[in-house]
Amino acid sequence: MVHWSPADLDALLCQLRDEGFRVIGPSVRDGAIVYTDIDALPVGVGDDQEAGRYRLRERGDKTRFGYNLGPSSFKQYLFPSREELFAYADGDIVPAPLDDEKLAFVGVRACELAAIQVLDRVFQGDGFKDRRYQARRQNLLIVAVDCSQSAPTCFCASSDDGPGVGEGADLVLTELLDDGEPSYYVRAGSERGAELLAASEADAASPELQGRARAVVDETREGLERLLPREGLRDALLGALDHPHWQELAERCLACGNCTQVCPTCFCSTAVEETDPVSLRVSHVRQWDSCFTAGHSYVHGGPVHAGIASRYRQWLTHKLASWEDQFGRSGCTGCGRCISWCPVGIDLTAEAEALRRTP
Ligand code: SF4
Ligand code: SF4
Repeated sequence: MVHWSPADLDALLCQLRDEGFRVIGPSVRDGAIVYTDIDALPVGVGDDQEAGRYRLRERGDKTRFGYNLGPSSFKQYLFPSREELFAYADGDIVPAPLDDEKLAFVGVRACELAAIQVLDRVFQGDGFKDRRYQARRQNLLIVAVDCSQSAPTCFCASSDDGPGVGEGADLVLTELLDDGEPSYYVRAGSERGAELLAASEADAASPELQGRARAVVDETREGLERLLPREGLRDALLGALDHPHWQELAERCLACGNCTQVCPTCFCSTAVEETDPVSLRVSHVRQWDSCFTAGHSYVHGGPVHAGIASRYRQWLTHKLASWEDQFGRSGCTGCGRCISWCPVGIDLTAEAEALRRTP
């Protein structure tokens, strides 16, 4: 464990770039924190969130991680929203080359690390291996950060996915604040992380700093305002398929698909063929889909989920119930994005509780 200054953090970004990593992390764009290629971390940025609302604000300090999650997740780099799988060209089928670029994700929160581990189960679990996902995943370095604040939409503690970072990261930071100036308690989570710490030549962290880092996570956990009790939830939801609440939800839900687009674990996709009329090359492209679209459940003659009630039911019961049968855990890590980014403020924690109650 070491103690880093912001300059040490900047040096880490430089070192990763020097080692050939593409460094992906938080950046302010179009009024939101998004993940993109970065040279530096945003300073003093906070946010206000509630159901159907997201605004950035200045914090008046120099924190690098003083914001909560924005609309983008790291999923887009492991499972891109659109990618060619193969093409038909000159009479041959040509597979798209595997993407083996070295990626470093910086600023990964606990619930996002858990979401990456959920995607691991989906794309490289026992049943099915996605070679494209595996190629990206095996070259991934993760620099995670404990949450030192939460949004009112967060509920990661409900599934033990946060706010403290669990296993699976290479480095884990806790941001500590003294009179508006940040510093970092840093621990290694892997051999690679330990090498990076050794190379930094920073001071060893004192037991007092370790205690402060633990207190930051404890205080964040105590500050969480939302909860989604998990006990009995799977059976309750699967036993509520005819609940009248689905119809009430359909009267509010716009079937816009925002919730599935911002969710770090949603993985539905569709495939389209795109033809270049000049070269006659036909590209087979995978792109994200959503269970809120009519096309997603289309089979011969029409969609299985013809109405919004049925589509919302598919989303919620898969995410919180049948996902457990498929992948051994809930598909929700409590990040709260689907609550903030739902244009009508639908809150899955409240809906799940309403459905748990007998009609
Ligand atoms: S369902 Fe909502 S809260 Fe859960 S992981 Fe997806 S976006 Fe986050
Ligand atoms: S729940 Fe909200 S975000 Fe999701 S499809 Fe309905 S209106 Fe859109």
